[in-house]
Amino acid sequence: MKFLFYAITTVTFCLSCAEAEESFSAQELNEITTRIVAERSQDETIAKRVDEILEQMTLEEKIGQMTQLEYKRYGGFEVNEKKLADLIRNYHVGSLFNGIAIPARQWFEYSKKIQEINLANSRLKIPVIYGIDHIHGASYLKDSTIFPHSINIAATFDPTFAADEGRIIGLETADLGHHWIFATVGDIGLNPRYPRFYETYGEDPLVVSMMCREFTLALENNPETSPYKQASCAKHFLGYSVPRNGWDRTPAVISDQDLYEFHVPAFKAMIDAGIKTVMINSSSINNEPVHASYRLLTTLLRDELGFKGLAVTDIGDINCLTTEHRVAPNKKEATYMAIKAGIDMSMTPLSIKFCDYMKELVNEKRIPEERLDLSVRRILRTKFELGLFDNPFPRDDRFDRIHHQDYIKSALNAARESIVLMKNNSVLPLKTPKNILVAGANADNKISLCGGWTYTWIPENDKLCPKDMLTVYGALKKQFSKSTVTLAQGDDLIEADKADVIILVVGESPYTEFKGNINDLVLEEKQLKLIETAIDTNKPVVLVMVAGRPRLITSVYDKCQAVIWAGLPGVEGGRAIAEIIQGAVNPSGKLPFTYPKYNGINLPYHHKPRTAKKIDISNTILAPFGHGLSYTTFEYVNLKLDKTAIEKNESLTAAITVTNTGKTAGKETALWYISDKFRPTLPPTKLLKHFEKVELAAGESKNITFQITPEALSYPNTEGKMQLDSGAFTLEIGGIKKEFIVNHCCPR
Ligand code: BGC
Repeated sequence: MKFLFYAITTVTFCLSCAEAEESFSAQELNEITTRIVAERSQDETIAKRVDEILEQMTLEEKIGQMTQLEYKRYGGFEVNEKKLADLIRNYHVGSLFNGIAIPARQWFEYSKKIQEINLANSRLKIPVIYGIDHIHGASYLKDSTIFPHSINIAATFDPTFAADEGRIIGLETADLGHHWIFATVGDIGLNPRYPRFYETYGEDPLVVSMMCREFTLALENNPETSPYKQASCAKHFLGYSVPRNGWDRTPAVISDQDLYEFHVPAFKAMIDAGIKTVMINSSSINNEPVHASYRLLTTLLRDELGFKGLAVTDIGDINCLTTEHRVAPNKKEATYMAIKAGIDMSMTPLSIKFCDYMKELVNEKRIPEERLDLSVRRILRTKFELGLFDNPFPRDDRFDRIHHQDYIKSALNAARESIVLMKNNSVLPLKTPKNILVAGANADNKISLCGGWTYTWIPENDKLCPKDMLTVYGALKKQFSKSTVTLAQGDDLIEADKADVIILVVGESPYTEFKGNINDLVLEEKQLKLIETAIDTNKPVVLVMVAGRPRLITSVYDKCQAVIWAGLPGVEGGRAIAEIIQGAVNPSGKLPFTYPKYNGINLPYHHKPRTAKKIDISNTILAPFGHGLSYTTFEYVNLKLDKTAIEKNESLTAAITVTNTGKTAGKETALWYISDKFRPTLPPTKLLKHFEKVELAAGESKNITFQITPEALSYPNTEGKMQLDSGAFTLEIGGIKKEFIVNHCCPR
C-alpha cells in the first residue's frame, strides 16, 4: 500500500518539520533542474521569451506570479484602483479571479481596467491571467447561454454536447478577458450524497473521460475566439468526489488500484488532450491532504501522467493544511508543504500573506529559488501560449455572439437529450389532456432548473435569470396551448378534481459546494407528502425530479404513473421537459449513475463481485446506470464476434444489430460492457468500454460495431501499470452476452 505508507511518512515529516524546519535536499534541487529542462517549451520563441523574462525577475516578482487573488480583494467590479495598483506594485500579483454575472460591457471595462492598471504599475509588464468559474456555460456572464450541468451532459451520452459547451463558453467569454476557465470536473460521481455530484459526469470512468476530453479540446483549441485563446482547468485533482460521509471537502479513502482504475482516467484524458491547468482537491485521500502530497502532485501528476502545465490550489487550501487538516503547525509550514508537494499558484484568495511566507522560506534557504523558477516558467509559458502578452486587452466588437440563437439551440438540444424517462405506465406522452394541474416546489421557479454556479455562487431567486426563461409551468402552458394548465395554489391540491393529470415538479433548490451537505438523501418530507396527496387523488401522477443528485423517492415511485429525472437542465430545461411530456421530443437520456433505493446502500454498477454475494443488488436500486426509456422500443439482436479467441496483442470486432421496433423515431445509446472473469485485484462486475448513440427511424435497423483492443481489456495494477490477463472475458450489450478468450501465449 504505497499511498498508505506515504501518508504515514508525511505525518512523520510534519511532526519533524515543526521542530527541525525541513528544507529541499541537494537531490531535490537536482530533480527541479532536470524538470526545468524537460519542461522547456517546444516552441523556441516561447522558450526564449520565458528565459528572457525570468532572467530579469526579482524574487518578489516571481512570488507574485504564483499568487492569485479574488476580485473582492480590490473592491470587486468597482475596481479600487489604488488597492489594485498597490497589490501589483508591492506584491506583483500575477493572477486574479472570479465575479458574478454582469453584462458583457461591464466585463469589458473591468478587464481593460485591470490590464491597464497592471501595465502601468508592473515593471516587467507581464499580463494578469484572469480565472473564472464558468461551470455550465458562461455562468458568470449576464444573458449568456446556460447549459445543463455536467450530470445532465453525461446523461446525453453524446460528448459533442460537452464540446458544444466548451466551444460556446469560449465564444461568449474569450473577448471579455476571461483567460482561464475553471472547468471541467473530472471527479467521478460515486457518492450520491456529495453536494457536487451534479458537477460530475456521473459514475462511469469512460463517460467522464470522454466528456472531459471533448470539453477541453473544444475550449482550448477554438479558432473562432482568435486572437484569444483560453485555458481550461482539470479539477479537482484527485479523488475529491468520494468523501466517506458524503460531505464536501471531507476525507476520502481510496485504494491505489481504485484510484488508477476510476479516478485517474478522466484526468489522463484531459492531460493527453493538452489541458493547460489543473486545480487541486481540497480534501484528503487516505489521511494525506492532496495539497501536501508530493506523490499525487508530482510523482503521479507530472511523472506518471506527463502534465506540464500549471497547478493551482483550490480556494485558500494552503492555509487549510494547518487550519482544517492540521498536518502543518502554522501557515508558513503549510506553504512549505504545498510548494514541496508541487503546487505552482496559490488561490489565496484574499490574503497576501502567501507572498510573505514564500519570501521568508526562500531567504531562509528552505526553498531554493529554482523551485520558484519551475512554477514561474509554467505560469509564463501558459500566459505566452494563450497569447496574453500580444493581446492583453479585451475587445468589445463581437458582443453579438453572446446568447446567439445557435448557441441557445445547442443548450436546448443538450437539455432535451439529457432528460431521462425513468418510468412510464403509458401515461406519457400526454395526448390531449383537457386539464393539467401543475404543482411542486420546482414547478414555477427558474433557478431550480439551473442549480448552483448560475449567475452567482448560489442563486437565491430568479432575479438574475433571463426574463424570457420558462419555468416548467410556463413551458407547459406554451406546449399545451389547447389545454387548461393550472398551477396549484396550495399543497392540498384542491384543483385536482378537475384535472386529467397531475404534473409534480419536485427536487432541490440550488446549492453549491458545502452549502449542499445533507444528512439524508431522502427527498424532503414536505415534498413527499405533496406527492402522496397527489397519488391519493387517484389521478395519474407524472413526477418530474429537478435535482442535482438522486434524492430518494422510493416510497412513492411505484405509485406514480411516470417519473422523469430532469437533473439540472439549465435555462432551456423548462422547455425541454414540456416537450418531452407532450411528445414533441422523444426522450433519449440515460442515467449516468445508479439511482439508489435506500440511504444505507449505494453501489455503482461497476461494484466488486463479492459485494453482491448474499444480496440481490437489483433490490437496492431504483434504476440502474444506463437506464432510460423512450416513446419507442429498441431491440438488440445478432451479437457477433469475429473471433472467439485472440492472442494478447490482438483485437477483435464485435457487431450487433439495433432496431427501432416502435412507431416513433428515436435515439438509443448502445452500451458495450466487458467483464474480466478473473484478475489478481478484484475486478469490477463489469465496466463500460464503449458507447454510441444512434438515431433510428421507426422500423429502422443499424449494425453497430465495437473494436475490442488490448487497451479495452487492460486494467491498471496498484502502481498504475496496465495489465492484460489471459483467460475468459464477457462482452455484454443490450442484455446479450458473449464470451471470448485471451490466450496465454504472447506477452505484450
Ligand atoms: C471550488 C472550485 C472553484 C473555486 C474558485 C472553490 O471553492 O472548489 O471548484 O473553481 O472555488 O471559485
